[in-house]
Amino acid sequence: MKPKTFWRCTVCGDKHYGANPANPCPTCGAPSSKAVEITKKQFLEGFI
Ligand SMILES: [Zn+2]
Repeated sequence: MKPKTFWRCTVCGDKHYGANPANPCPTCGAPSSKAVEITKKQFLEGFI
């Protein structure tokens, strides 16, 4: 089972937490291929 991690949508900057990125992004509708994995630190600090 894949551990949960943090993801950021490169289109709208929305951030998610889960085993996989949101597909599609609930904010802008971009496919999960537009999401990149980020660290917890980046997630908490609002890294863009
Ligand atoms: Zn998005």
